[in-house]
Parts: sequence; structure tokens; C-alpha cells
Amino acid sequence: MEIVILPALADNYMYLIHSDTEAAIVDPADADVVMRALDERGLTLKYILLTHHHYDHVAGVPALKRHTAAQVVGPEDDRIPALDHPVLEGRALELGDGTFTVLETPGHGDRDISYLFKAPSRPDALFCGDTLFVSGCGRLLEGHAEALWASLRKLAALPDDTALYCGHEYTEDNLLFALSLEPDDAVYRNRLLAVRERLREGLPTVPSTIGLEKQANPFLRCDSLIAFSEWRRKKDRF
Ligand code: ZN
Ligand code: FE
Repeated sequence: MEIVILPALADNYMYLIHSDTEAAIVDPADADVVMRALDERGLTLKYILLTHHHYDHVAGVPALKRHTAAQVVGPEDDRIPALDHPVLEGRALELGDGTFTVLETPGHGDRDISYLFKAPSRPDALFCGDTLFVSGCGRLLEGHAEALWASLRKLAALPDDTALYCGHEYTEDNLLFALSLEPDDAVYRNRLLAVRERLREGLPTVPSTIGLEKQANPFLRCDSLIAFSEWRRKKDRF
């Protein structure tokens, strides 16, 4: 099984997970990019996996439904176009010899979900939309701080080697915010240097890992809901 990172719009990431023959796409913002990736590899699209209803995550769904026989999977939400399978915590979906399991991770929106992908001989991969970012987390657009805090604790409890694939390339800005909180922090400083190097080469900063995020993400490092809420508010004004 392979995971292909497909940039879309200004700073979104879509993820194509595939075997030799079939594929799933996470949060297709741009159907043309997805269709090209499928054609190049000779893949059949089986699932469209959505984390939440925001336009920059679902914009490509209608066109993909027209051109493929893929089933649309996402949280129960009538704001999601053409949803075939509304799913809840624990729902499993098979692709090749791998399995996606649904985790409910509300807080950015009021009903966001994440997908944990397990396949033989590779670390687990988490697709978490706008819930957890590399060195950051989603804004509280519809959900409450308590909900997002609980969702982040849930993701932080995954094994350290779980690969993190998030919905946006916000990493540099997130690290600048982290350094505004703790200017002398060596982990943040070193991470910023490494991230800038990747961006300079035109490379994405995903995937990260849960283990790395526990060290270099202020929203996973902070130890109380009160601190989390305050930092989330500060980040909105950063
Ligand atoms: Zn969003
Ligand atoms: Fe988004």
C-alpha cells in the first residue's frame, strides 16, 4: 500500500492511498488533480473519505462522483455533498490489504472525523483533516475547546510511530507561534530550521509522527484544558 501526497488549492493536502489496483482519496479539494493521479497509476477509486464538510475538503466530490464509482464516506452531515456512507466511531473500511478505522475527533467543526489506516509492514497512518496540524491544531470554528482538547488527547494516545497526515501546510506559521510562546525552546527552534529547509526545496512537511508532535506541538505539550484554551485563543490573533 502506498500513500501519495497531492497538494491542492493554496495550502491543502489531499492523500491518495492505494494498492496496485484500487485507491481511496482523503478530502479531495481538486477533482482534476485526483483524476490525473488515478489515470497515471491505472487505479480505480473505491472510497472518497471526508473528514468534515468545509469547502476546501469536499470541493472535488461532485466531479469525482460523476467520473468514478467511488463511495463517499464521512460524518453524518447534510452539508456534505453526495454522502453515501455516514460513519461513526469504530467503523472499518477495507482497501487492499489495509483497513481504515474511523475516529470521531470533533472540535474544529462540530462533527469532524479522522481515519486511522493500518496495513501490513508499514507504520499506521492518521488522516485527521483540520483537527491536528503539524505543530498546531484546527481553529474552533463550530466546536468547543473542550471537544477539540479531548480529540487531541485521543490522537496523542496513538502509538508514537503513527504517521500524521493533516489537511493543510501550516507548519512554519505554527512553529513561529510556538516560538512566540516559548522563544528559547530548542525543540521548536530546531524543528523550524528543518521545516524551512524542506519548504525551500518545495517539499511538504507531512507526514509528521505522533511522537514528534508530542515534542514539537504546543497544543499537545500543554497539560491542561485552561492552558490549551488560552493558547488556542492567542493563536487566533497571531
Ligand atoms: Zn476545516
Ligand atoms: Fe481546511
